[in-house]
Amino acid sequence: MNHSFECPQCGNPRGMLDDCRQCGSEQLPIAHSDTVVLNLKFDSPSAEEALDRLTTALRRAFELGIKAIILIHGYGASGEGGKIKWAVHDALENNYFSDRVDEYYFGEKTPFGSDAYHALLRRRAGLKAHLKYFKDGNAGMTILLLGSQSRNT
Ligand SMILES: [Zn+2]
Repeated sequence: MNHSFECPQCGNPRGMLDDCRQCGSEQLPIAHSDTVVLNLKFDSPSAEEALDRLTTALRRAFELGIKAIILIHGYGASGEGGKIKWAVHDALENNYFSDRVDEYYFGEKTPFGSDAYHALLRRRAGLKAHLKYFKDGNAGMTILLLGSQSRNT
């Protein structure tokens, strides 16, 4: 999927969540970036499964010092993509993840050049490469900025 993580034991690329497929290591992977892309819909999970995965991913991301997650939840006029999106929106708006998520930016409310877009880049300039796809907004994605224990503001 993505090669942002490396196994500390065998050095092979790894996912953020799984044990190493090469050597079976259960140690935390080494993160190469503080921004990760998390695709919640890639194997069409139910909305509940998708939220469980997000919960697990947030815990792991926090342990690894990840600062931002580009969340791909999809949107569909019909079908599972839409269900996952609304489950994620609901959970965020009800502060379900507020112990780990500092701020969230729904893609459709963060079009290129908007106030939200500039506010987000002021927080995390490194997101610019990901946001170039937003143009008029992207209803299939949400950006999560994670809190950190050393935050002073
Ligand atoms: Zn390994």
